[in-house]
Amino acid sequence: MTTHQGKSEKLIGILDSQNLVSYALPLDGQLINLNNLIGQKITLEHLGIIHCVACHRLINKAFQQGYCFPCTQKLAQCDLCIVRPERCHFHLGTCREPAWGQANCLQEHVVYLANSSGLKVGITRQKNILNKSRWIDQGATQALPILKVSSRRLSGLVEIILAQYVADKTNWRKMLKGEAEKINLPVLRDELFEQANPELEKLEIGFLDFLDSEEVLINYPVIKYPEKISSLSLDKTNLIEGVLMGVKGQYLIFESGVINARNFAGYQIKLST
Ligand SMILES: [Zn+2]
Repeated sequence: MTTHQGKSEKLIGILDSQNLVSYALPLDGQLINLNNLIGQKITLEHLGIIHCVACHRLINKAFQQGYCFPCTQKLAQCDLCIVRPERCHFHLGTCREPAWGQANCLQEHVVYLANSSGLKVGITRQKNILNKSRWIDQGATQALPILKVSSRRLSGLVEIILAQYVADKTNWRKMLKGEAEKINLPVLRDELFEQANPELEKLEIGFLDFLDSEEVLINYPVIKYPEKISSLSLDKTNLIEGVLMGVKGQYLIFESGVINARNFAGYQIKLST
């Protein structure tokens, strides 16, 4: 039996040359390859110790996937505008951490179409386009960048317009039940632009470039998808044991259910194989 132990972070997924995601679970910064464990029985144990993912203090309970309560109130990355980018309030002078906002929000963003549980629109930073991490985290099997815009706020305003015509959320249960049916993203992009263009033209708070990008295809290491999705949690039990059937998005798929690795970020974890 091999065991690894340490403070857990969200999964790192890297797309290899075959368009397959190679996943690792960081434990105290050491990357444990998960693809090698698929098909094997593994044990995940929560050792009862949680540290805030931002300030590292010892906590009894994590909020917003890994933070201590004070960090959720103080950090810009925990503000509501992170999930609702159109509400970015940097221009009003009320950003919780202006330096962080400058580095993360007043930067070019990309609006994309993806297929995770069907067609959806989303936004992300340019760096997440290069490493494809945003799409991998969502379990998307296809992705197509469609617009480059000058700021996070503008990307949010564009997303609201486009979300009148396509979904802006992933149905994670559907995403974990199997491969999404292939869709023609370039055709859907052109239709969407036609519908939304009059409204997009009215946005005058920065630049907006139409992109003609290559579609990205992503495959996940899953040997069998579950027929019924049940959620596992290391808050309800401290031990999860079973055959690892695959990894998709941020989810580990076991025969007995699925667990989102973000939900135990900051937890002291023992992984035995
Ligand atoms: Zn903290």
